[in-house]
Amino acid sequence: MAFDYAGRIKRLQAAMDQFAVDALLLSVGADLPYFTGYEAMASERLTVLVVRRDHEPVLLLPELEAPRVADVPFEVQPWGELADPLTMAAELLAGSSTVAVGDHMWSAFLIRFQASLPHVDWRPASELTRELRMRKDSQEIEALRQAAHGVDRVMARIPREVRFGGRSERQVSHDLMELTLEEGHQVAGFGIVGCGPNGASPHHDAGDRVIGEGDVVVCDFGGRWNGYHSDSTRTFVIGDPTPDQIEVHSIVEAANAAGRAAVAPGVACQEIDRAARSVIEEAGFGEKFIHRTGHGIGLEVHEHPYMVEGNELPLEPGMTFSVEPGIYLPGRFGVRIEDIVVCGETGADTLNESVRDLVSVE
Ligand code: ZN
Ligand code: ZN
Ligand code: ZN
Repeated sequence: MAFDYAGRIKRLQAAMDQFAVDALLLSVGADLPYFTGYEAMASERLTVLVVRRDHEPVLLLPELEAPRVADVPFEVQPWGELADPLTMAAELLAGSSTVAVGDHMWSAFLIRFQASLPHVDWRPASELTRELRMRKDSQEIEALRQAAHGVDRVMARIPREVRFGGRSERQVSHDLMELTLEEGHQVAGFGIVGCGPNGASPHHDAGDRVIGEGDVVVCDFGGRWNGYHSDSTRTFVIGDPTPDQIEVHSIVEAANAAGRAAVAPGVACQEIDRAARSVIEEAGFGEKFIHRTGHGIGLEVHEHPYMVEGNELPLEPGMTFSVEPGIYLPGRFGVRIEDIVVCGETGADTLNESVRDLVSVE
């Protein structure tokens, strides 16, 4: 999939003008692949793209990584094992007074940059890069749609192919990640499986607990499809659900629907959170919904914009994010239902299409 990297860099340089940033340093993290198609190896050897407003960008990278760089529309300067890439980068920054740095650059490098360039005003690159990255173009939305459909196919296979009862969360998690790869993802990113009381911990690490009859199981997983992420949650029950389990699940399902129904251009992100949260509050479980309603998604699983109280950013067509309300009952169980949506011209385009019911499994 070929994205218009040269166009993205031009837009970045325009944003640097607007934000009065002279230079921008991108290292590990998703900004670099967004602008170049190249993902830095996270290591003690510095990889950094130096972007200046009025120059071609320069990618400094370890010589041994140079074969990984394909055709790129900018200068590549491999540095040999004994060279000092920080000095090379600092030379390119001569005369820059405001420099933005990728949010994920290691502090080991940033601290040395700060020491060698004491008069520079340092800023987080995400102030600029999120303005571009959170507005997806049609190619990116297509990639996210394919990723979402991949996990939907896994969800559909779960009741038929994944055995829960008598197996540990870790074993089920392993199955989910394997199915995610079978369904076309290049990378299986994560596989949260929280059964019984463990489901009350939203990001529970799948562990040794053996799943038993009557357990509610939160399954939240996803991976990368051509660089773009999937992330979906459905909640299952082993055998027949109790009235309590059915009630809590139906509240979360209504909250998920309300959150998605609130999506439209011009609506503030916090309104999506409020729409989902009010359903749970009115049902008396407000204090059990212990996280924001959603996060942006793209080259990163969690990125801007966030659906959270206090975020007044108005939604725009092309913004992509999760709607994932949950109710977490410590000592008992948890329920979460998560879908990825795109803000369309008139409302939400929900990318995940798998059933949201409390599906009974074995
Ligand atoms: Zn999460
Ligand atoms: Zn998730
Ligand atoms: Zn999520």
